[in-house]
Amino acid sequence: MLYYSTNHTSPKVNFKEATIRGQAPDKGLYFPDNIPVLPRGLIENINSYSKEEIAQTVIHPYVGDEISKAKLEKIISETINFEFPLVKIKENIFSLELFHGPTLAFKDVGARFMSRCLGHFVKDENKKVTVLIATSGDTGGAVANGFYNVEGVDVIILYPSGKVSSVQELQLTTLGKNITALEVNGTFDDCQQLVKQAFADKELNKKLFLTSANSINVARWLPQQFYYFFAYQQWQDKGQAPVISVPSGNFGNICAGLLAHKSGLPVEHFIAACNANDVIYDYLKTEKYMPKQSIATLSNAMDVGNPSNFVRILEIFEQQFDSLKNVMSSYSISDEETRSTLKEVYLNTNYLLDPHGAVGYLALEKYLEEHNNLKGIFLETAHPVKFYDVVEPIINQAVLIPEAIKGLLKEKKKSIKMEVNYSALKEYLLSK
Ligand SMILES: *Cc1c(COP(=O)(O)O)cnc(C)c1O
Repeated sequence: MLYYSTNHTSPKVNFKEATIRGQAPDKGLYFPDNIPVLPRGLIENINSYSKEEIAQTVIHPYVGDEISKAKLEKIISETINFEFPLVKIKENIFSLELFHGPTLAFKDVGARFMSRCLGHFVKDENKKVTVLIATSGDTGGAVANGFYNVEGVDVIILYPSGKVSSVQELQLTTLGKNITALEVNGTFDDCQQLVKQAFADKELNKKLFLTSANSINVARWLPQQFYYFFAYQQWQDKGQAPVISVPSGNFGNICAGLLAHKSGLPVEHFIAACNANDVIYDYLKTEKYMPKQSIATLSNAMDVGNPSNFVRILEIFEQQFDSLKNVMSSYSISDEETRSTLKEVYLNTNYLLDPHGAVGYLALEKYLEEHNNLKGIFLETAHPVKFYDVVEPIINQAVLIPEAIKGLLKEKKKSIKMEVNYSALKEYLLSK
């Protein structure tokens, strides 16, 4: 499989190159040259496939023979070695729980797959790679955990001191080994700025092989298709495909679902569930794409004013606005609605949503009110404990700590404190 740049001025590359580069040199996003058609047997007999066999069938055309079958099987089994349960909330609404991975968010799937592919490719090259990222909270934990112990890759994460939740901070700072956390005395934007400066520093890049691990990397984007198939496998009514609602920020997650659908996965309709950051909601109304400044909301992992994967969505629909509108609708949900949904669902069904899941739930409910013969799934993208500071005051109760992170809470944070000062960062990187 070759990948072209959505800006069309960089050469096509294979999966390996696309994974190592992340973004194309012309600043476009890599996109597969052709979208594979799935074998019919996968959909018709999906219940006879294991999770691993589904994943292998879905991803193999994208990877080709650049990773051996045995190695790809190993990468897949390590990527999806946790549960993806589909839980019934009420008659017509189901939750696909994507928070059973090590950092309790769906980003674990993409981060685990990408880190192992990158580790594999750099081993071939006998190079040591330094992954440098800035995080506002959620991405950093998934990336740190995904790369933990991956040979040949050092990970350096910059995060704003005092501005991430305590669970998120422990996820970043307690791993050690090849993972280093730099605690920056500034904001997320300061961290982002320092990282950008490092990538633009020619002298530094001669000495170190720096790469980013951001969500536009094809090796993070493509494996996110897996759990849409796992949802379909668990869907009882194969005669009537589900509506799927995806809490969206950079639109990588929903874009993976749209790709799976284009390859043959039955989905009745997609809902892009947005918070007050409503660029795509507006686009579907007006056909005009107008990026905005992001607005801070309760579902902060979706506070994106210029979603990077929008260009990929246009590619999937070959720039045809009407075909896109037939397949995807959008709702913009306010913080007030997020709070009341979280509270009501908890009181009425005893199911505790996180703020992102609450946006997905309400958007789905609104759509089903107008299409009352259908049923649907929303993706529950994170465990509510990650956002306990938002959730607890709404339900007036403490969030139960899942077993999986009880150990984490006993560990001690290890970070290196740093001022917002590029020379200090550079000196540190060169001393590694
Ligand atoms: C990152 C994130 C999202 C948004 O996903 P995109 O792929 O950027 O649309 C939604 N919910 C949670 C909890 C996240 O961490």
